[in-house]
Formats: sequence, structure tokens, C-alpha cells
Amino acid sequence: MISIPKGTKDVLPSQAYKWHYIEDCARRTAEQFNIFEVRTPVFEHTELFARGVGDTTDIVNKEMYTFLDKGGRSVTLKPEGTAGVARMFIENGLASSPLPMKAFYITPCFRYERPQAGRLRQFHQFGVEIYGSAAPAADAEAICAASTFLKKLGITNTELAINSIGCKSCRAQYNAALREYFRPHLAEMCPTCNERFNKNPLRMLDCKEEACKKIASGAPKIIDYLCPDCAAHFEAVKAMLDAQGIDYIVDPGIVRGLDYYTRTVFEFVSTAIGAQGTVCAGGRYDGLIAELGGPSTPAVGFAAGLERLLLLMENTGVAFPAPPVPAIYLAGMDSQTRAKAFALTGELREAGVPAECDLMERSLKAQLKYADKSGAKYVAVIGSDELAEGAVNVKKMSDGSTDKVPFEGLINYITSQGGN
Ligand code: ATP
Ligand code: MG
Repeated sequence: MISIPKGTKDVLPSQAYKWHYIEDCARRTAEQFNIFEVRTPVFEHTELFARGVGDTTDIVNKEMYTFLDKGGRSVTLKPEGTAGVARMFIENGLASSPLPMKAFYITPCFRYERPQAGRLRQFHQFGVEIYGSAAPAADAEAICAASTFLKKLGITNTELAINSIGCKSCRAQYNAALREYFRPHLAEMCPTCNERFNKNPLRMLDCKEEACKKIASGAPKIIDYLCPDCAAHFEAVKAMLDAQGIDYIVDPGIVRGLDYYTRTVFEFVSTAIGAQGTVCAGGRYDGLIAELGGPSTPAVGFAAGLERLLLLMENTGVAFPAPPVPAIYLAGMDSQTRAKAFALTGELREAGVPAECDLMERSLKAQLKYADKSGAKYVAVIGSDELAEGAVNVKKMSDGSTDKVPFEGLINYITSQGGN
């Protein structure tokens, strides 16, 4: 037997309703915030991610699904959603459309990682990007949208942690302070951190090696190095969150895994799903569009990992709305009555009523067992008497009561009972 590739997951028919619910909450959140959907290809030129995500990140260094296509071009399955949206924005000249441009996506992402709970090689993100505003209100809006999404899902037990990682000018001073701090410890730190020391010391704060983490915990905090503009921006974002009643903590340890972030960064973290607790993460990335060759455009956004959200909801007993069930199951006995059941099922469906009948040539007993398992709200058995009479006893499964209903009145009966 051929098995599923490591780090990927099937969605079984019995589980799909949970995905629909999560996606539906994402779409309804977007609608409330006047955020429109965009769809970009699953693969892009490798260069887009190398430049867009940043070549000192884990994603670009270790995790990308990169291959040569038959034309010899290097392409990469998207490891995240932002770079593709940025490319779309530039390529379609959307900087001259009404700004801010507010876009969302629901997309599979691919990262070659060590699979574990909440860490997959193919996973899914709901992401939001707001392009064109440098104002603190845009940061606050992105955080509010993420918070609204989580609330809509029924998730109440995450913590929002925010930080500011400053701009180019404060970062220069901070990088110098970091290098000064890390220099005496370099021998104890991992090879990757040693590389980061030269290229991008900020990334050393995001290392997952225990030894490095311990050293990093004593590093100077960026928050103490913010320039007056960045400090004022951060204060304004916090004030807007306060005004919206959104709780947060300031965590100076958050730097995020992508190179393009500036100023505000944030994470929604849960303690209920083990080590991979970050269910949603984002921040401001004012440098990305220009870095990719577009007109300098400030931007802020977030992405939520849908598998982690699903895990969190399941682990903490968040209720999903019940999956859809057939309104009515029509059983038949012989070829004639089965044909009638099939025809009536078709008419009901035509009228928008979810209806079911037998496709397996099962006995009546087996049909009724199947109907019961399917959760059908009503069940009707068409025999030769029913066929002759042109009417059928419709049984309401919740209380066992029955009503005699003429065939031509079935649609009305079911819809008026609220059965569909
Ligand atoms: P982590 O520190 O957990 O590796 P990250 O910084 O790489 O996360 P982002 O690139 O910010 O994550 O992606 C946004 C969100 O996507 C994460 O918060 C998480 O919920 C989800 N996510 C990231 N990588 C994976 C993965 N391999 N499997 C499942 N979900 C993921
Ligand atoms: Mg990662």
C-alpha cells in the first residue's frame, strides 16, 4: 500500500465540517473588516521567497520545497503566503488602487520540517495583509482582525504577546549591542547562530537550541533601543488595543521568523497544544514591497495556522457546529418503489432539501440502519401500498412521530417543518 507522505494529513469526510467551520469563520471575519480574498499560485519562482522571506531565515535556509521544473527553472512551493501577495501587488500595479489594500488568503503552505504535533510539511494558513498604511491604526486593525477570528472560532484561551523590533535606524544600534553581548558567548552557540551573528544578529533571539535560548534570554532588549518614532508608534498601537479592550502582554523576546518585519510584531499563543503553541503570528513589514522591486509601501499582516487552531479547539473542547445531515431518507423495497424513492429524492434535492436514498441495493432493514447512522431527520419507507396510494408515512426521528404525506406534498412538508 502507498501511504501518505510524512508530515501531511488527509481530511476525512467525517471531519471536513470542522475545516468548513474554521474557513467560514475566517471569511466572515474578513467580511466584517472589508478584507477581500486573493489567490496566488501554490508555486513561485524561488527567488521570490529567497528575497521576500529573507535568506537568514529557517524557512529559506532549511525548509523550502524547491525543485527544477521541466524547463529547468527553480520553483518553490509557497512556504508562507505573504511573499506571493506582495508579488501580486507589485505586478498588478495595485499601489495605484485605492489604499489601503486589504487582502486575505486561505492557502496550503509547504515547509520541509521535522513533523510533530502542530508541525507539518503541508499545513494551511489564513492570512491577512494590509498594504499602504504606516499608521498605528493599521497594526491595531490587523491585530483586531486576528483577535476577532479567534473569538469567532470560540477560542478564548490564547495570550496575545506583542513587541516592537524597530526600524532600520534603531536596529543598527541594537544590532551593535547584540553583537557586543553575544561575542563572548559565540563558542557556546550553534553554528547557525554563529552565522547569524554576522548576517542578522536579531535572528539569534529566535534560535530553538536550548543552549542558545539560555544565552539569548539575557540579551539586551530591542524595546530599550527604539528610536523616538518607533517608540511613539508602539505606544499608539498599544493605546488602540487598550481602547478596543484587547488584552496583551509586551514580550521583548518576540522577533518572528521572517526577515522582513519592522516595528510591531505579535503572536497569539496557547499553552494547550504543546510546544508548537503559536496559533497566529504577524507584524509590520514596511520594507518588503520595496525589497521586491515595488514602490515603497508600508504593510502589516498576520497568518494563522489552521491545523494548530483545529488542534487547540479539539484539545480544549471548543464546540463545532453540528455537521450537516440529510433532512430525509427515502427507503424503497423493490425495483418500483426504489425507483420512486430515487425520483422523489431528486425532486427534494432540486428544491434545495438535502435528501438521501439507497445506492447499495440494501435490504429495508439495512437501509433503515444506514438512515439512522446518517442522522437523517426524517425517514419514509415507500412500499407497494404507498406507491398505490401516492402517499407515505414520514417518521420524525427525534420523537418517533409520523405523518401521512402525499408524494407531491413532501417538499412542502419537510421545508415547513424546518427539516432542511
Ligand atoms: P514556528 O516558530 O512555530 O516554527 P513560524 O515562525 O515558522 O512558527 P510563521 O511563519 O509565522 O511561523 O507562520 C504563521 C503560523 O503558521 C504559525 O504561527 C503557525 O500557526 C503556522 N505554522 C507555521 N509552520 C507550521 C508548520 N510546519 N505546521 C503547521 N503550522 C505551521
Ligand atoms: Mg517555523
